[in-house]
Amino acid sequence: MADGGTHHPFLTGETRRLFIDGALVDARSGETFSCVNPSTGAEVARVSRGGAADIDDAVAAARRAFDGEWSRWKPFDRQSLLLSVAAAVDARFDELARLETIDMGAPLARTSTFRRWIQQTLRFYAAQAVSIRGDVFSNSVPGDFMSHSHKSALGVVGAIIPWNGPLITQLWSIGPTLATGCTLVLKPAEEAPLSSLLMAEILASAGVPRGVINVVPGPGPTAGAALASHPDVDKITFTGSTLTGQKIIEASARNIKRVQVELGGKSPNIVFADADLAAAARGAAMGCFNNTGQVCYAGTRLFVQREIYDDFVDQVAKVGAGFKVGDSLDPATQLGPLTSQAQLDKVTSYFDIALADGAEIVSGGTRLGGALSGGFFVEPTVLKHVHNDMRVAREEIFGPVLAAIPFDTEAEALALANDTTYGLGGAVWTRDIGRAHRVTRGLRCGMAWINCYGVTDPSVTFTGARMSGYGVKGGPFHVDEYLHAKTVWTHIGDA
Ligand code: ADP
Repeated sequence: MADGGTHHPFLTGETRRLFIDGALVDARSGETFSCVNPSTGAEVARVSRGGAADIDDAVAAARRAFDGEWSRWKPFDRQSLLLSVAAAVDARFDELARLETIDMGAPLARTSTFRRWIQQTLRFYAAQAVSIRGDVFSNSVPGDFMSHSHKSALGVVGAIIPWNGPLITQLWSIGPTLATGCTLVLKPAEEAPLSSLLMAEILASAGVPRGVINVVPGPGPTAGAALASHPDVDKITFTGSTLTGQKIIEASARNIKRVQVELGGKSPNIVFADADLAAAARGAAMGCFNNTGQVCYAGTRLFVQREIYDDFVDQVAKVGAGFKVGDSLDPATQLGPLTSQAQLDKVTSYFDIALADGAEIVSGGTRLGGALSGGFFVEPTVLKHVHNDMRVAREEIFGPVLAAIPFDTEAEALALANDTTYGLGGAVWTRDIGRAHRVTRGLRCGMAWINCYGVTDPSVTFTGARMSGYGVKGGPFHVDEYLHAKTVWTHIGDA
């Protein structure tokens, strides 16, 4: 069956095509690639494989749209459009969530919770559309001058997103694009392009003008690289690995693009002996295993105060082992498969690396077989006796693998937590409010949580530090990144 037995209305027998200039088109090369359901390994769709020529077409369409009426739409009209989009996405939400589940493997139990988040996001950007303002300055120069700055849409934006949560991630660029009057070329990852393609059709049905949002799935080294280096793209927003982020930044130099990059992480989760340990154990497990560990800010290094280390690590392992791992379309499933065979190979290789480096596998550490052997399943895995300098503590694994490391003092915990090249998330669990704030203040990261892990909200700034990237998503500063500020001086003259 063409849809891999999933009975999804979007997955008919035909190839899913690129969305450029308001129309579905084949790739210029005529090539296609296969999308598989990570729960079963079965092909669910064939997708046109976009390349550099298709990126050129999409950028040209985005430029035409930007140069036309669209970028001069009134804020109220952009806000109204965003609210129409929110309604249209909500009406087809179940279809989107199910498609995401089939495509990248997150269980329905997870993707179905995105309904609220998506509405929050689109309505947040709808509010931003009517909140854009410039500045008026007081001048110190002799003579009578007035100066003000106003902000206008930046231009054509390229968004390159990964496979770990495209339904959410694409909205971080679609929202501000529509709020500001920019135009967008979105390149989803080859592993999970389907929700972006369906989204493009939904956006068009909600009244987004042609050329404003274009979606071109294709390989990173060809389609992605072409977008990142394109001379007519004004800004790139990228979410993905640090290595690819470095290439994106280098490519941006060609025409001095604005860049916002959210990259990898190896985030610390620090548990003190005085914490609510039951809550901390659940938080440590979910902070790492959520989305089968495929979360950029996952708390993958668990620092535990030595006096509770053994008991606490056992407790976390128990929570992890209690999660129901299974086919993502089963509503009871809490953790789905990894997204691809490549990711499965990478994650399982770290089990051997951990053992070779002297760590102990407390729980998990295997690929799941039996009824799940067709898919890319691994058990939630807890590693003990890890040192911060082992590879499992330094490298981003992007799977459900938690490295537990003991510490004695607050200062040691902080030093170990910051001993990484990354700086995305971090958390502390303690009942001592002063310590909680000392530690979060000391963490070199973009987001820190106290007695919780991984809470995000589109209206709250989301950012990284160090090699986890720069620029912001969400919050009041995000929209600014899609705007160009121009200062105007006026000589008022002498009275
Ligand atoms: P992963 O290794 O987990 O797939 P990547 O950072 O390589 O993470 O992928 C994130 C996104 O970046 C994907 O859409 C991918 O196609 C794209 N990508 C990969 N390589 C490049 C590149 N050289 N230039 C631009 N985009 C790329």
